Amino acid sequence: MYRRVGSVVLSIDAELGWGFVDYETPPEDRVASGRSGWQTLCRLLDERDLRATWAVVGHLLHDACDGRHLDHPIGSDWFAPERGAWADRRDVTCAPDLVERVRASGPDHDIGCHTYSHVEFGDPGTTRDTAAAELERARGVMDAFGLDPRSFVFPRNNVGHVDLLSEYGFESYRGQRPVPRRSLTEKLRTVAYGGGHPPLVTPQIHDSGLVNIPASLFLYSFEGVALRAARHAVGDPVVKLVERGLDAAAEEDGVLHLWLHPNNLVGEPERQRIESVLRAIDARRDEVPVETMADVARRERAARVR
Ligand SMILES: [Zn+2]
Ligand SMILES: [Zn+2]
Repeated sequence: MYRRVGSVVLSIDAELGWGFVDYETPPEDRVASGRSGWQTLCRLLDERDLRATWAVVGHLLHDACDGRHLDHPIGSDWFAPERGAWADRRDVTCAPDLVERVRASGPDHDIGCHTYSHVEFGDPGTTRDTAAAELERARGVMDAFGLDPRSFVFPRNNVGHVDLLSEYGFESYRGQRPVPRRSLTEKLRTVAYGGGHPPLVTPQIHDSGLVNIPASLFLYSFEGVALRAARHAVGDPVVKLVERGLDAAAEEDGVLHLWLHPNNLVGEPERQRIESVLRAIDARRDEVPVETMADVARRERAARVR
């Protein structure tokens, strides 16, 4: 009898410096790792011929920018780092070369959208006008680049103004992880003593017609000291969680939706983690198919009209 099994999706929030545009002091190591992390991730996915959803901040498609953005309803202040700390750092705010690298890759990646300038849609201060301006600009610059993004990722997974997305041609978004985050101690205990895996999520059709594909696991939620301590005890706990998630997806329906930023790859342990995660996904690909957000949206919508 036909038994539907789960699948695995990897979504990548490709933003370089934009993830920190509203920080008073952007973390230097993360900003500095944006480009190298992006290249590394591309290469690792190439090596294993694995497809992913790259949710790209639209502004990255500009070749250059004066950082003024006078016609953006969020106001010019939002873009202050472009005129200040990053005035000579076009490499952290513009990256058509890197987006082209993804497009030209062997694996047929899904290039989606992560707004125009990383405005948090779910923030109470984000007006409908501002959200629409972000979508309008992102769509414009991506269209001009020959891209037709259908998958959307909200900055910080902060969901808002969902009904606007369909007006700009989007078909899916990444929603919030369905269970409350557990404490680090709890997570470590679960991993150390066996059992437990990240949730397999069920894609849902939102009122707007978009497919919500919630997150299962952010791959870099264990960081720094906790990561190093745990690695000594049981190996990388996040890799273990992914392996258990894949085991579960081989047995039951649902999506193991993993995500990260290229700028999470700040050093060797972080690079090793994603390499191990991709190795695990590759090893199980016959049992647990690899999909993109666009693939999931397509099959969910097809199932709905059937
Ligand atoms: Zn700009
Ligand atoms: Zn982001």
